Amino acid sequence: MADVEERDAARALAAQARNVAWAADGTPWQRFLRAISGGRWGRQPTGWTVIRLDAPWQDTPSSERPGWRERAANLAGDVAFAVDYTVCTACRLGWVEWPYTMEKYQRCGLATAGLEALRLEHPGLSWHTLGGHFQDSRPFWAAAGAGVPGSYQQRETCPHLPEG
Ligand SMILES: [Zn+2]
Repeated sequence: MADVEERDAARALAAQARNVAWAADGTPWQRFLRAISGGRWGRQPTGWTVIRLDAPWQDTPSSERPGWRERAANLAGDVAFAVDYTVCTACRLGWVEWPYTMEKYQRCGLATAGLEALRLEHPGLSWHTLGGHFQDSRPFWAAAGAGVPGSYQQRETCPHLPEG
């Protein structure tokens, strides 16, 4: 695929961000492993099956953070975009962490569309991130957080959630 076609495909994918296929929160086997390991095994990349669904956008248990979800966009067999997230409805707070866009699909609106879809699915929340932002990601978060309650400012998780 030529670069222009790849970027057109990425923009088309961004436009479908509300078309999401969902996977339940872990298989019974994953829940069993998590329970007996106290979540520890869940933090090891080899300990989890990373689920890839046959859909433009997917929502699955996070392979990195037990109890979190991963929202991802699939394009031509690649994970074009992915971000981990979690929400607490009691506190009306949401967190996103480590948004990732494949380099060749950057600046096609995937991250913007993915974050917007999460906000639309969980209206009324303030949105935050867990970690300090790296220097080179500050312009991204400044743009992403414009007009968003919480502005994706750093904030620790509330007591209702597992740590990221
Ligand atoms: Zn809470």
